[in-house]
Amino acid sequence: MTSNSFEKEIKPLELKKDYPLAKHTTWKVGGPAEYFVEVKTKQDLIKSIIAARKADIAVTIIGWGSNILVSDKGIKGLVIKNSYSEINILEECSYSPDKTNYARLKQVDSSQYYSFTDIDYIEETSVARKVNISSGTPLPLTINTLIRQGITGLQWFSGIPGTIGGAVYNNIHGGSHFIAEFVSRVEVLDENNNLTWIDKEQLDFAYDYSIFQTNTNYIVSVEFCFPIGDKDKALAASTEWARKKSLQPSNSAGCTYQNITETEQEKLGLESNSWGYIIDKILGLKGKQIGQAKISDKHAAFIETYPGATSEDVIKVMELIASTSKEKLGIIPHPEIFFLGFNDDELKHIK
Ligand SMILES: Cc1cc2nc3c(=O)[nH]c(=O)nc-3n(C[C@H](O)[C@H](O)[C@H](O)COP(=O)(O)OP(=O)(O)OC[C@H]3O[C@@H](n4cnc5c(N)ncnc54)[C@H](O)[C@@H]3O)c2cc1C
Repeated sequence: MTSNSFEKEIKPLELKKDYPLAKHTTWKVGGPAEYFVEVKTKQDLIKSIIAARKADIAVTIIGWGSNILVSDKGIKGLVIKNSYSEINILEECSYSPDKTNYARLKQVDSSQYYSFTDIDYIEETSVARKVNISSGTPLPLTINTLIRQGITGLQWFSGIPGTIGGAVYNNIHGGSHFIAEFVSRVEVLDENNNLTWIDKEQLDFAYDYSIFQTNTNYIVSVEFCFPIGDKDKALAASTEWARKKSLQPSNSAGCTYQNITETEQEKLGLESNSWGYIIDKILGLKGKQIGQAKISDKHAAFIETYPGATSEDVIKVMELIASTSKEKLGIIPHPEIFFLGFNDDELKHIK
């Protein structure tokens, strides 16, 4: 297929060219997508991926853009904004708490920054429900819909912006919990354009990681098994969690860096494994601003942007953090965000 026939096939989905992406990210920075389409159904999601692949056009799927930095040059190929939103509550399933240590790290020191340990608990019930959720479904909508019906588990992720696809892609975490705890299997469009299911065991979930970061399968929907826990307790935890999260700056991409490992923490003799603590107390960079990007005064691992910011401003702030950290601690922080539209050379000082 040529790019002309791709354009013709996808035109009915309101295909746009050179479409500004900044407004589709929480950082509100970044250049245009060569092609852009917003999809609201499974059929349109699949159709647009297959048409682009047939025309040899690169595909990038975004959800709420709350964990990405888009280059000021923009993104080549087709950017699909995934708004395919559906929640289907199915039959009972057998649940036992998944106590895998996805973190492999100590949690953030509870005396520092945002601690969630005070409201944490494990749901010990075995009564549970299978729920299929499409990848473009907003996480906040999912949490509200399910908890209202007594289907619990997602309360730990209240206040996190994004879609179910983005949440599974990075195995989001809230306090000591990871979304992988509740995933049974994922429906994907694989590299051969087949719709297929992949079981949890094959998804390599880890801290900030799933197999989708290293393959070209796209997440279409996710099948979860959620406990039917204590609804009031879950509601209370969700409300308190969201309240604490609302104190974090939303003009950011969340925490920019992964916590350091326990081994690194011990070796460096640091009180906390959180980059919020390190950037503030050890590097002394809290509040530092370059252009319209600033290391947040509220939480130093968050970078805030203001009107007129560019992704170059964010990169420069990250370069400052990396070089100061290299000089003072001998390590470079590992970003928790995904860079879209950059080449390796542009990121060589921060990764
Ligand atoms: C204020 C704030 C607080 C946050 N707090 C937390 C927190 O507590 N815990 C946490 O873990 N994260 C947190 N985040 C980060 C972010 O919200 C999550 O990672 C979120 O799940 C990203 O979802 P998204 O839909 O916005 O994904 P996007 O940012 O749009 O995309 C992220 C990545 O996923 C890929 N992707 C998205 N959908 C698909 C799909 N269907 N198939 C294949 N790949 C896909 C994209 O290509 C991209 O590489 C926070 C962010 C903000 C702004």
